[in-house]
Amino acid sequence: MKKRQSIRKAIILISFLLFPVTVYFFSPALILQGASEGVVAGSMITFALLFLFAFIFGRAFCSWICPSGGLQECARLANDKPFRHPRWNWIKAAIWVPWVLLIVILAIKAGGFHAIKPLYQMEDGIPLSESQGVVIYFGVLFFILAPALLAGRRSFCHMFCWISPFMIIGSWIRNRLRLPGLRLTSNKDDCIHCGACDKKCPMSLQVEKLVSKGNMRNAECILCGECVDVCPKKVIHFSWKDDKR
Ligand code: SF4
Ligand code: SF4
Repeated sequence: MKKRQSIRKAIILISFLLFPVTVYFFSPALILQGASEGVVAGSMITFALLFLFAFIFGRAFCSWICPSGGLQECARLANDKPFRHPRWNWIKAAIWVPWVLLIVILAIKAGGFHAIKPLYQMEDGIPLSESQGVVIYFGVLFFILAPALLAGRRSFCHMFCWISPFMIIGSWIRNRLRLPGLRLTSNKDDCIHCGACDKKCPMSLQVEKLVSKGNMRNAECILCGECVDVCPKKVIHFSWKDDKR
């Protein structure tokens, strides 16, 4: 279903175009700054909501809404090499864990959170309305774009994204509890091993292997549906039910 993919790409492209307005809602630095003052910043609210979102929609935010995803889809025009370094996925955990610990430490030192400010540091307008915001915005763009251009398809998501661990943990808890939610399933007996799903996967997953194993779960799957839509035998499906393990 090519139409679904066109719609998905249009949505994340629009999200990327809105990034100058929304960038602070995805800022890991503002969470730290807010925590040091006992303030729950807008980005902290965003990440908490995405953690909860993952219980129902897994990592679909990454492929359907994320502005960084929109930028990286554009970067594929310059470098569409698959990113096949699964061990490097752990880099983001090595960044994320100390960052979360630092948030906790700063919040404790500030005597806990005593205010919620969704527009923290945005009281005077959007980030790009001031020079500091412009520098931060283009710095973030560079940080996302550089790995994608150097290491290939969505390599920023694999190695550095500070948001994805919230959704990976949310999805993991959901799966452990066998809760209903959006996921992939497959009928492995129908697979003709054409490899089309592998080629299309924006997260460079070995989708055909997942199909052969009869278990489509993968922490890096962003539920884009490219494999669902490209499969000539309709082997892969979206499902709301838990698969058996
Ligand atoms: S496995 Fe399928 S749904 Fe998941 S990221 Fe790859 S192409 Fe998208
Ligand atoms: S695209 Fe479909 S038939 Fe081809 S390898 Fe993937 S699951 Fe099998």
